[in-house]
Amino acid sequence: MLQNSKSEGKCLFCGETFVKSNINRHIQSHLKQKAKENVAGHSYLIKVEPNPKWGSSSYFLSLWVDGNTRMKDIDQFLRDIWLECCWHMSAFTNPKNRRQGGGMWNFFTAQELLAKGKTREYEKLMEETNGEVPKSRKVVNVLSKGLKLEYEYDFGSSTELMLTVIEEYPVKADEGIVLLSRNEPLEWLCDACKKEPATQLCTVHNWDENSLFCDKCAKKHAKTCADFEEYASMPVVNSPRMGVCAYEGGTIDIERDGAFVKQS
Ligand SMILES: [Zn+2]
Ligand SMILES: [Zn+2]
Ligand SMILES: [Zn+2]
Ligand SMILES: [Zn+2]
Repeated sequence: MLQNSKSEGKCLFCGETFVKSNINRHIQSHLKQKAKENVAGHSYLIKVEPNPKWGSSSYFLSLWVDGNTRMKDIDQFLRDIWLECCWHMSAFTNPKNRRQGGGMWNFFTAQELLAKGKTREYEKLMEETNGEVPKSRKVVNVLSKGLKLEYEYDFGSSTELMLTVIEEYPVKADEGIVLLSRNEPLEWLCDACKKEPATQLCTVHNWDENSLFCDKCAKKHAKTCADFEEYASMPVVNSPRMGVCAYEGGTIDIERDGAFVKQS
């Protein structure tokens, strides 16, 4: 159970904490200053969140992305911080460029092109039919202020995200992709004792009333649920992919990836 749906993130520049709805406005004041100092180029402030078509969410990332990086670099970053479990496929899509029709015929043509190594033709077909943005493309040739891109990781047990370009700047970013903020670990509460922060979940009972456990109650749950002992125990992590497939946490920004810790 989510104790508190409050979502806050720290600003990388000044260390201050803001609620989700204010963080990007605040970050823009720093980037305005950067726009006067950095060398000329292109860069973008991007908000990443679970696709809002599935309801509002407390998870977010604020990224400052340089125009010279490629879409595949953003893909890799999202995998590293939030998604990668077993190297599933992924895609960026511009929903405005999605066409109706095509369907299976397109799918088979696309697979054939891939099998023959005709990557360019494959990307062209996918872009013209599905609005899929080629991952080889440079960010500067894709993004512009106000653009919303959908992103899907794993077309089976998929995690669907939305990227929104909040602002663009006529300067280079400090690095290819800079993590300016993310939500601090959410306060998941143990479903059993309803006192301690949850650190594990049982995927057999996923999302019903009793699936999240603190360390102590997890030991008790293991006695009644054989699956939990064997394979169904997963760690609470700071990602919208928590508890899905084999996802056990990211490989970057690990300090903010674990379970919520009570301040004593
Ligand atoms: Zn700040
Ligand atoms: Zn997986
Ligand atoms: Zn407990
Ligand atoms: Zn269980």
